[in-house]
Amino acid sequence: MASSNWGYDDKNGPEQWGKLYPIANGNKQSPIDIKTSETKHDSSLKPISVSYDPATAKEIINVGHSFHVNYEDNDNRSVLKGGPLSESYRLSQFHFHWGSTNDYGSEHTVDGVKYSAELHLVHWNSAKYSSFAEAVPQADGLAIIGVLMKIDQANPRLQKVLDALKAVKTKNKRAPFTNFDPSTLLPSSLDYWTYSGSLTHPPLYESVTWIICKDPISISPEQLAQFRSLLSTVEGDKAVPIQHNNRPPQPLNGRIVRASF
Ligand SMILES: [Zn+2]
Repeated sequence: MASSNWGYDDKNGPEQWGKLYPIANGNKQSPIDIKTSETKHDSSLKPISVSYDPATAKEIINVGHSFHVNYEDNDNRSVLKGGPLSESYRLSQFHFHWGSTNDYGSEHTVDGVKYSAELHLVHWNSAKYSSFAEAVPQADGLAIIGVLMKIDQANPRLQKVLDALKAVKTKNKRAPFTNFDPSTLLPSSLDYWTYSGSLTHPPLYESVTWIICKDPISISPEQLAQFRSLLSTVEGDKAVPIQHNNRPPQPLNGRIVRASF
């Protein structure tokens, strides 16, 4: 497995990542199973404050194992503050994780319950660092909001994203994606759990303050099928759909998961 060839199959998937990325077996890996009886309410945790300028939405890109919606991050127009954070974190991109069937697909689980998908809103510490690349390996470099997604009615707030997928069917395709405020995807309650963890795929840096929303959002089976219709292959190659892209829960290793509620 070359470093560029990691994926989610038996040959290049999560069980193999440790060969090239030893931090895969580190003490602060993500995702985790959130055992609600072991979480600790922390009254000092502040509410999450998100302020996203829809005009900073830039492009959608098929990265082969998923798709990313990227944001302009050269200034503080779209930021996350508050919650467990003492500094301002700038929005870089959002993406999703899903499974090959509706029975699984989320990365974080709650009391062992798997959700069907998970949204990640990725931010970097713009108070201390000058770019995403500089922040990504730093202990306080990233803050990611995770939102669990439950099979239910169609979610109209996802429609603009789903409509854009046809333009990025194959790996490395990109298309403009503008005028979108991703806070519209958040659940109405912003109660959250927070813990110290990692990126959930290579390079697996232990640089993430995770903020996991307590409440899930909905996605319909038909909407989820549209995620799976994206291809991991480049145009002209034999089509291989992105069936699943979720890492299983990792050991907690004594970390405390704090609850805002
Ligand atoms: Zn992710």
